[in-house]
Amino acid sequence: MTFATLGLIEPLLRALETLGYQTPTPVQAQAIPAVLAGRDLMAAAQTGTGKTAGFAVPLLQLLTMEGPKVAANSARALILCPTRELAEQVHASVAEYAQNLPLTTYAVYGGVSINPQMMKLRKGVDILVATPGRLIDLFRQNALKLNQLQTLVLDEADRMLDLGFSEELANIYRMLPKKRQTLLFSATFSDEIRTLAGQMLNDPLSIEVSPRNVAANTVKQWVVPVDKKRKPELFVHLMRKGRWKQVLVFAKTRNGVDALVDKLQGLGINADGIHGDKPQATRQRALDRFKSSEVQILVATDVAARGLDIEDLPLVVNFDLPIVAEDYIHRIGRTGRAGNTGEAISLVCADEVNMLSAIEMLTRQTLTRKMEPDFEPEHRVPDTDASGQVVKKPKKPKKPKASGGGGKRNLGKWVDSGEVAPSEPSIKPVRKVPVFNTGPRKKK
Ligand code: AMP
Repeated sequence: MTFATLGLIEPLLRALETLGYQTPTPVQAQAIPAVLAGRDLMAAAQTGTGKTAGFAVPLLQLLTMEGPKVAANSARALILCPTRELAEQVHASVAEYAQNLPLTTYAVYGGVSINPQMMKLRKGVDILVATPGRLIDLFRQNALKLNQLQTLVLDEADRMLDLGFSEELANIYRMLPKKRQTLLFSATFSDEIRTLAGQMLNDPLSIEVSPRNVAANTVKQWVVPVDKKRKPELFVHLMRKGRWKQVLVFAKTRNGVDALVDKLQGLGINADGIHGDKPQATRQRALDRFKSSEVQILVATDVAARGLDIEDLPLVVNFDLPIVAEDYIHRIGRTGRAGNTGEAISLVCADEVNMLSAIEMLTRQTLTRKMEPDFEPEHRVPDTDASGQVVKKPKKPKKPKASGGGGKRNLGKWVDSGEVAPSEPSIKPVRKVPVFNTGPRKKK
């Protein structure tokens, strides 16, 4: 199959050829004809599947065929994204696909001045990419009317809900014309997403390009168990040992990002961080420097990393596991893109065992554990598997009888597969840890 057989017009075929796209990806092969036929779509497609071209290319064709006729302060198509970074990324892709077409495109998002955006919208734009909050602001200030809107795209809809945009989406829903085409893309399909789809979509065509909630199988994934306090040290050790050149690292909190970046920079390692507290321009600069390999290690929170599209990213490291299991899929979707192979390594401490279990259940696989010599944790990470079972804390082993006879020590469950049992199993009981407690620990 080629893009030409999907019925795309010549200026789009030329743009795709310039970008080096030779064959449609599975999501493109299914979405392009459906969108051209005017259908609503509900697509389960994770990052890295080529979903952006899947909706943007046919959308551009529909708008071109109708002729350029956007009214002042209007948009003919709206693409809603959860974060500024994704909005920028999607807009950059849309502009590339539209390079030979007489259409206008623009991206609006919060965190930057609204006035230039209002000015730009005066003439109207054919395709507007927006984050929900800024879109509502522009609408309320009469800078944007939506009565000419014919297509709405909800990109990474699951993420928009995770980030708490459900109220904004409900508001936007009320602002939309009833007659429109709606395309919903989501990596995962929770009940909330299905409810949203039920409200917003009309007889949608369902597209599922990879088994739902299963991470890209081009990514080699494993876990290194370690004590929490030794994570920075282990990271540096693995980095040196593996001669890592370009790594995207995920930390759970903004403070976590800053602390790791400080530590790495203190060791003379070329690292930078992005998170929601940093101004947009700083985040973009860090990202650009990472993409151009001026920065070797980019540490990010989930929100800030959303929409990063870095070609051939070889390695993603989860310095902390994500609180929401779906984020694991998004994180590792940064590597192994467009058929390339990638690696995703997670540094996991005993506190994170339930998060690990949730990830294994979601991705329906037991992640391989690899012990790093000299970093074996004192607080062992209990065994987990894809069934969601966490092997509970064992009873404190009884002291072996002096005779050396019958004193059974059932520590077998605590030894990871592939790991050599310590010659003298630690009898220190594992601390009972609050699960998913991300707040500061109370002083005793
Ligand atoms: P996406 O899932 O839309 O974020 O796309 C992931 C990456 O795949 C981007 O870098 C796209 O430029 C690239 N890509 C999308 N479609 C194709 C294609 N048909 N052939 C080659 N690369 C593609």
